[in-house]
Amino acid sequence: MEAEEDRFPTLREVLLLFVLLVHTWAERKDYFIAEETENGSFVANLAKDIGLGTRELSQRRARIIFNNEKKHFQLNLQTGDLQVNEKLDREELCGPTEPCVLQFQVLLEEPLEVYRYKLFVTDINDNSPVFPEAEMVLKIMENTLPGTVFPLKNAQDLDVGVNSVQNYTIYPNSHFHILTCNSGEGRKYPELVLDKALDREQQPELRLTLMAVDGGAPPKTGTALVLTDVLDTNDNAPEFVQPLYHVKILENSPLGSLIITVSARDLDTGINGEIVYSFFYGDEEITRTFALNELTGEIKIIRKLDFEKIKSYELEIKASDGAGLSGKCTVIIEVVDINDNAPEMTVASLIRSIPENSPETTIALFSIQDRDSGENGRMVCSIQEDVPFTLKHSVENFYKLVTGVLDRETRAQYNITITVTDLGTPRLKTQHNITVTVSDVNDNAPAFSQTTYTLRVRENNSPALHIGSVSATDADSGANALVTYSLLPPQDPQLALASLVSINADNGQLFALRSLDYEALQAFEFGVRAADRGSPALSSQARVRVLVLDDNDNSPFVLYPPQNGSAPCTELVPRAAEAGYLVTKVVAVDGDSGQNAWLSYQLLRATEPGLFGVWAHNGEVRTARLLSERDAVKHRLVVLVKDNGEPPRSASVTLHVLLVDGFSQPYLPLPEVAAAEAQADPLTVYLVIALASVSSLFLFSVLVFVAVRLCRRSRAASAGRCPVPEGHFRGHLVDVSGTGTLSQSYQYEVCQKRIWDQGI
Ligand code: CA
Ligand code: CA
Ligand code: CA
Ligand code: CA
Ligand code: CA
Ligand code: CA
Ligand code: CA
Ligand code: CA
Repeated sequence: MEAEEDRFPTLREVLLLFVLLVHTWAERKDYFIAEETENGSFVANLAKDIGLGTRELSQRRARIIFNNEKKHFQLNLQTGDLQVNEKLDREELCGPTEPCVLQFQVLLEEPLEVYRYKLFVTDINDNSPVFPEAEMVLKIMENTLPGTVFPLKNAQDLDVGVNSVQNYTIYPNSHFHILTCNSGEGRKYPELVLDKALDREQQPELRLTLMAVDGGAPPKTGTALVLTDVLDTNDNAPEFVQPLYHVKILENSPLGSLIITVSARDLDTGINGEIVYSFFYGDEEITRTFALNELTGEIKIIRKLDFEKIKSYELEIKASDGAGLSGKCTVIIEVVDINDNAPEMTVASLIRSIPENSPETTIALFSIQDRDSGENGRMVCSIQEDVPFTLKHSVENFYKLVTGVLDRETRAQYNITITVTDLGTPRLKTQHNITVTVSDVNDNAPAFSQTTYTLRVRENNSPALHIGSVSATDADSGANALVTYSLLPPQDPQLALASLVSINADNGQLFALRSLDYEALQAFEFGVRAADRGSPALSSQARVRVLVLDDNDNSPFVLYPPQNGSAPCTELVPRAAEAGYLVTKVVAVDGDSGQNAWLSYQLLRATEPGLFGVWAHNGEVRTARLLSERDAVKHRLVVLVKDNGEPPRSASVTLHVLLVDGFSQPYLPLPEVAAAEAQADPLTVYLVIALASVSSLFLFSVLVFVAVRLCRRSRAASAGRCPVPEGHFRGHLVDVSGTGTLSQSYQYEVCQKRIWDQGI
């Protein structure tokens, strides 16, 4: 048809067409020939079919006219055969049209005759099915239900009829099979049917080979690759690598420290597999303490940990994918204690002042605590060693501070340092100072500075004379140390102590109340008491011995010759007496003692100086030379007796001496008579002298006896008296042996000794 349109018909052909239209149109039989038949192949014998001989054909210039210019066939005029001129391709000639018919005419001239013929070109299976694309891509969601159908592009086969595509198959057929369907035009196309659910996570892509098979014999096939992409659906939740994480972390870990990284997996892809981490629930304590990186899963510290507050955290971490599925894990964070707390001490009760007599007394009760745990929280409690206090464990974490033996007088205040140390590393400690004052208890009596005080008072003192002091100290304090002095009642009830001395109660000064007389009272002793004002009061005693010192207030007293103013005593001295003849002895005493009673004698005046002498130490009056007749009969001697005091005191005595020729001469009391008689009879004079001497001695003995008795009585009447030992005279007395006075110091020592012996 196209060829006809493209070409301009010749005149001859127009004429011929005209002839055809006016002449009878003769229909003849149809011919069949398979395509692709070789050149020269016999199709039909036209001469025979027309009914002409081969010669006629040539004569009538028989020829074949095709509708198109192609000369597929030629007419063999010798044989009348229609032969294949060139190979026929049905697909080229007719495409999908069926049947494929070629029309031609056989034109005979003279007369003009036209014979019309149809030539059917039959198909052979010379084409394979061909898919339009060698590769098809199919995207199927993995959650697609089995039975779902996916139409595929069909394969094309240029052949027709049974030689066209008859069937489709696919392999591998693990998940699918192929359904071959007929279209309305008789085409067959494939449908992919899902037999088994897909899983992208297992097999994200399937490469299937689709094969089309035609119905030729042998059949021909064509294939295409069906690339099946399994599309992801969010059918996998994120899953943590570990369901439980357990970490330990020191409580002093710095901010920003990485604790752990949690990790979750999601098998899905794309947004279905994009994991975001978050806290499962928003516990404020956790979210303020830990930061979770939502992309990496790192958990870091953002706030200081404190084991003492929170010992462990339990974090629930969620991993979510982009499509709403999530998984969960637990992170247990255990905080590890470090020794960051020093022990603490709480004083429950405290006594700051304690009486010294309080042994085993609790003065402080306190509790100790350490907020750490384990060794970091174990504590040891101690105090310094040099204080009399001990620590005792009470109950649980309570301790008491207990007193030991206290003595305010030794130490009145203590600074006690209580040290509490924990056993952590490094060790931490707390110290607490307690000041305890030891209050006074009256446990010390006043103590005298001496157990015995010896005071010396010169006699004839003025009244109210301060004679000395006693002193006592008291180690206590306050009223417990306030000392009051007093006199103790005398042991000797006859000693009128109250009139002798007084004591100042406040300061212990002793005063003599009246003038003392050594001659009456040489010493006395009394007790003093010092008492404090504690409650009860304590006291102690001391002895005070007052020694009265002698003053030279007594003049010597001449015992012999007597001075009572009665008849004067006259000594007789024989004229024949040798020089040194003992005329008499002046006997004197002195109420004082010591030097004050140390008497010396001297001849103050004499009728005839040089005739008599007086022995200074014993008062003996002796002749100084031989007597002569010229010497006067009567002599008068004045002897001075003087003590050794300062100033000295003295007494004088007058002696009358008669010089007689013999002791037969009577002695007359009157000096004149005596003198006369002495000259008369010396024998009588001697007798008289002897009698007088005996009488004098007797009288002297009586006087001495009386004096001794008086002395004893007066000593007995006074404390501290000094009894004169038997056989000795006190004072400067003449001993009977006539050897002189006793040593004054000897007498004094004896006196002292007796006082001590008697324990006065
Ligand atoms: Ca064919
Ligand atoms: Ca998935
Ligand atoms: Ca600690
Ligand atoms: Ca700690
Ligand atoms: Ca006291
Ligand atoms: Ca005390
Ligand atoms: Ca004297
Ligand atoms: Ca005296």
